[in-house]
Amino acid sequence: MKERLGIYIHIPFCASKCAYCDFVSHRVAEFEINNGIEAYFNALSQEIEFYKEEIQKYEIGSVYFGGGTPSIVNGSYISRVLKQLRSVTTFTDDVEITLEVNPGTLTEEKLNYYTASGVNRISMGLQTTNDVLLKQIGRIHSTNDFLTSYDAIKRSGIDNISLDLMFGLPNQTIDDVKKSIELIKTLSPKHVSTYSLKLEEGTPLYERYVNGKIDLPDDEIEREMYHTIENELADLGLMQYEISNFSLPGYESKHNLTYWKNKPYLGLGLSSHSKIGHKRFANTAVMSSYIEQWQAFNPQYADEALLDDKEELFETIMLGLRLNEGISFERINKSYNINFKEKYAVALHELKGYELIVETETHLFLTPKGRDLSNLVFLKFMD
Ligand code: SF4
Repeated sequence: MKERLGIYIHIPFCASKCAYCDFVSHRVAEFEINNGIEAYFNALSQEIEFYKEEIQKYEIGSVYFGGGTPSIVNGSYISRVLKQLRSVTTFTDDVEITLEVNPGTLTEEKLNYYTASGVNRISMGLQTTNDVLLKQIGRIHSTNDFLTSYDAIKRSGIDNISLDLMFGLPNQTIDDVKKSIELIKTLSPKHVSTYSLKLEEGTPLYERYVNGKIDLPDDEIEREMYHTIENELADLGLMQYEISNFSLPGYESKHNLTYWKNKPYLGLGLSSHSKIGHKRFANTAVMSSYIEQWQAFNPQYADEALLDDKEELFETIMLGLRLNEGISFERINKSYNINFKEKYAVALHELKGYELIVETETHLFLTPKGRDLSNLVFLKFMD
């Protein structure tokens, strides 16, 4: 049986740039002229062709269209990509095909393309139900737009819907977070991903913050928001399975589990990252270079590294501890030919003393306090 491969496809176009965003995305209007979108998808097609033999070694277990805003482009581009991938190798029977959607960019025609080509999971950005906050962070949608899109997705027959929820926004209150969860309660999504706002240098929101024009919730309130989300989602049966992710049983994101379980994935498109075997590599983030390289069938990685056993082990620990199920001693000992408990005896003793981890006979996982301080925990395994 072939191993499963996760495929990530970056669609780097958005209606406009959100005030906090430092992702690789371009205003779609600038590319619609001069056939820029077509040129991008042609380059993507060349890239799939280039990796054909590598992809054929696997079965595709998940495809994730991320962005940017994948729902901004014509639905025929999405079906074109999926058709090409299916011509290269088989998809597993339980393949998960996710497409990120932003409210206000969906049409019935696009949804028809998605369902006809096998998209079976939608991830949509709610972020918050406070329209003033949405505007402040530069989102183009309102809560009403979100509801219209949500209904349209449901009508299309796709019921595996994940919602993105943000917290730690400027002037956001615990009450705002609770109101967003109230709406989520009425919608019964299968999955929720949460994001704490990170101010990235160079973004308009960062500038406003350093110029004293906005206030952010302090660390204590930010953590309280996170714990409010954890508790309220649990009441809805959306159980936390990863630091920032919650789902009904059986609806955990298969694609993201590929990352957290340190399994192979191939990233296609502008600035996408891949990890195949011990090799990690990344595409350029410069659009003109990306298109030129793939037109010429001559990729130049922006980043490339071969991980040694020590680095692989650290990645497996760090990613595995993000999951509530944690890491299995048996699996990690077998994979890396180590005795985990002996190798990390000092770190384990210290972390248990601070109540940051729990060690059972078979597994190691973070406590709620450990999830709040996860970066500190990970450092202890850096060796
Ligand atoms: S929709 Fe997402 S990718 Fe696009 S600008 Fe906003 S945050 Fe960035």
